[in-house]
Amino acid sequence: AVTGDVDAVVGGGDEVGDRGGNVCGVDHDRGVFAGVDPQRDAEDSRRTARRAAKSISFRLAMRCFVAIELSEQVRESLDTIQSRLRHDCPDLSWVRPANIHLTLKFLGEIEAEQADAVRVALDGVAARLSPFEFEGGGLGTFPPSGRVNVVWVGIEELSGVLKTCQRECESVLAAIGFAAEDRPFHPHLTLARNKNPRLSEKIRGAIVKCEGSRAVRQTVAAVTFFQSHLGQAGSRYEVLSLHAFTSVRPQRQVP
Ligand code: ATP
Ligand code: MG
Repeated sequence: AVTGDVDAVVGGGDEVGDRGGNVCGVDHDRGVFAGVDPQRDAEDSRRTARRAAKSISFRLAMRCFVAIELSEQVRESLDTIQSRLRHDCPDLSWVRPANIHLTLKFLGEIEAEQADAVRVALDGVAARLSPFEFEGGGLGTFPPSGRVNVVWVGIEELSGVLKTCQRECESVLAAIGFAAEDRPFHPHLTLARNKNPRLSEKIRGAIVKCEGSRAVRQTVAAVTFFQSHLGQAGSRYEVLSLHAFTSVRPQRQVP
């Protein structure tokens, strides 16, 4: 499965992905038994070694992110909002409600062995947090003006604990080598993506008409470490680990 996803990332079916880590051995054998020109053989070996190294790193790479999973009830409310928007904007790429989550940190491609360090870091965060509640706000877009790329439901969490949670994740992950985000945290749930700039004005009109939903409300008691499998039929997110909040002390809040 990992190789298939890697193919999707690098453009599919190329020889690096297909040949895997055995290429060195094959060329080595050929060099020994076929007795080819030594200079050319050395160049071949270097090339295949480079390919093999690239292949190995692709094989072990995982596209990952940290997020808050949504309740079934929230997903149903998002489904309703999407149906209302779809009426005016049928041509957006809709995110399946089952796939919608609140992203805290996108890690990008990480190596398999880094995943353990991420788990330990997230356990540390979860031990310092206790459950909190968030609420859905209005609809909006990225970017806020001009061409629309993404349509979202905003998240409101007045106590500041969500922000604390996100900053804690940022900081423990920065400590193990993941560059901290320099953009401000804008908590949101992505409903749809837009690929056609000419639809932007229409989308903006539709979201003004369409209310968000106060039914988007849930208690958050854990953060989830996900692997994202990109594919032609859409992304599939796999839960790698769940980190439940266990602190009973009052939470430190970020202003
Ligand atoms: P696709 O990119 O094919 O549309 P996707 O966005 O569903 O698929 P990913 O790109 O793997 O899947 O993203 C996983 C999660 O991380 C999503 O919530 C996405 O919005 C978020 N994300 C992806 N890239 C970034 C980024 N550069 N910065 C912040 N969040 C990101
Ligand atoms: Mg993406």
